[in-house]
Amino acid sequence: MRHVLIAAMSVLLTAPGALAEDAPDWALVVHGGAGVIERGAMTPETDAAYRAAMTRALATGEAVLESGGSAIDAVERIITEFEDDAMFNSGRGAVFTAAGRNELDSSIMDGRDLNAGAVAGVTSVRHPISLARAVMEHSPHVMLQGEGAETFAAEQGLEIVDPAFFFTERRWASMERELGRLGLPIPPRPEGAPGPEPVDEGALLRDSREHRFGTVGVVALDMQGHVAAGTSTGGTTAKRWGRVGDSPILGAGTYANDRSCGVSATGTGEYFIRLTVASRICALVEFEGLDLQAAADRVIQDELTAMGGDGGVVALTPAGEIAWSFNTPGMYRARQSAGGQPLVAIYGDEE
Ligand code: ASP
Repeated sequence: MRHVLIAAMSVLLTAPGALAEDAPDWALVVHGGAGVIERGAMTPETDAAYRAAMTRALATGEAVLESGGSAIDAVERIITEFEDDAMFNSGRGAVFTAAGRNELDSSIMDGRDLNAGAVAGVTSVRHPISLARAVMEHSPHVMLQGEGAETFAAEQGLEIVDPAFFFTERRWASMERELGRLGLPIPPRPEGAPGPEPVDEGALLRDSREHRFGTVGVVALDMQGHVAAGTSTGGTTAKRWGRVGDSPILGAGTYANDRSCGVSATGTGEYFIRLTVASRICALVEFEGLDLQAAADRVIQDELTAMGGDGGVVALTPAGEIAWSFNTPGMYRARQSAGGQPLVAIYGDEE
């Protein structure tokens, strides 16, 4: 009984954001999308390229966090690099809508004060994650979309690019294939896009099998004991009617709260929205006392799976506990804590 009381008192005395005694100085977990990612469908070169990108993401985060930088800075810095990397479905390399556009969604959240920003359907902002952060820090709002979000981006001096900047042949070909499957017309190539080039069949096959995936997300813990999370995506291939997924929806695709955890999700967004996956995991930690892995597994392996949703999450507590959980064959993912070794994995049978 006595130790229960002591444990209860220490919980009461630990303010959110206060450093847990055995917490690492900092910690970091990232994903680059989940889906039907199987060894047999990957060339050694592609496998190595994704692992290298994950390793770079950890190095970028480490540089920020090791020098005392904030979790929010680490999240933004890593995601801007992913957004420039055409391998991922965010920023350059994003998937196309059925109308032949790249409509980008992103969100970011600070666990210290539950401050947050999100954008949906932007087409000319090079770094949607930075725009989400600007919404959080420099607007009275939490979420902006479409043209208004672009106007705000320009007013904030963020980098605006020609929409053709986001074009990649591989994603264009994937969209054409998906529209063919749906029996829908192929839109004209975007103005300013480079001339058609041959696309590697292997990449197309991978895209078609994992076609919804490639979103990027990061959760970080800084030396001050604060967690932050962010997510960025082009959404789903051949999406229509202004469809918006979970990635920019706080509580669904992204959530961070120093009282419990930070989460970034990837997968079939409609299900993640309906289950409020990210905040639900944090609530299980905060109110049910589940450890992070058990909370993530309950929501992904049990609840999401029972509904028919696919995908996964990465998550991190202020005590430096890290978890990931996914119900797809693979998820590009990586984690590291201060003083520890980086861990990079792709397939379900890796640690
Ligand atoms: N969750 C994203 C969406 O539904 C897609 C993904 O994670 O691949 O827009």
